Amino acid sequence: MEKLIAHTCKSCGHEFEGNYCNRCGEKVLHAADRSFKKLLSNILEAITFADSKLLKTLWLTLSRPGFITREFIEGRRVNYLKPLSLFFVLNLVYFFFPVIQLFNASLNTQLASPFRAFPAVSKFFQSIVATKMVSLGMDLSSFSLIYNLKTVGFAKLMVMVFVVIGSLPLNVLYRKHNRYFTDHVGYMVELACFNLFINAIVLSIFAAFLGVGKYLNELSLTVIFITTNLYFLIRSGSEFYKEKSWRLIVKSLLMVVVLKVALELYRLVLFFVTIWSI
Ligand SMILES: [Zn+2]
Repeated sequence: MEKLIAHTCKSCGHEFEGNYCNRCGEKVLHAADRSFKKLLSNILEAITFADSKLLKTLWLTLSRPGFITREFIEGRRVNYLKPLSLFFVLNLVYFFFPVIQLFNASLNTQLASPFRAFPAVSKFFQSIVATKMVSLGMDLSSFSLIYNLKTVGFAKLMVMVFVVIGSLPLNVLYRKHNRYFTDHVGYMVELACFNLFINAIVLSIFAAFLGVGKYLNELSLTVIFITTNLYFLIRSGSEFYKEKSWRLIVKSLLMVVVLKVALELYRLVLFFVTIWSI
């Protein structure tokens, strides 16, 4: 057996035995760690390991919804990429070309939102936009251009608003399932990853390269959103919350409504933040 030598951590000053500091996780460096061979293998490992973790975590999110969140909550974490890291990676990819109006919402999308279907609400929003345009001395097309540029920047940062709003009803729906508030938020992060990948990135690729863009209107996007999220909610409700039978179906249907409302609330906040910033 290898004899354990006491080390003083170079990063936090803690005394420990073994190769890793048990307070901050810093690794003890040996001469061999600085060899060229080690450098090459580190580079190779960084590339393949990070990639394989990312692909594995993404694949599990798609093929076994709720599993990753449960693994994290139960303390099995090292084999996966953190869902929050996956979320930021997917977020970055989506906002490179956010053609699909999901978490991104152009001025047109905002003014056509279902909540603005009521004439009074619609008038209210149009008057906000009109007032802003007049005060800036702009016409609609140049105002839209500036609005759409600004809103992408905010959307990227604010997707977490959707995650938190969407997680709140879970505290009620699944209150007897021995989960903490933060567990529900973690679950919603996984759901956001699923949506970023399927309903934002994959759909954007379909729209941009496979010529299906003309079929993607508000109605077809809503149908795709509902179908894919029902799949996620039913699978993960069983996997993560251990819910069964008709309760699982009813709660999943309720959650689809919650998600649609959370998305609209998120867009509402996004609208006002963008307008105020111009
Ligand atoms: Zn340390």
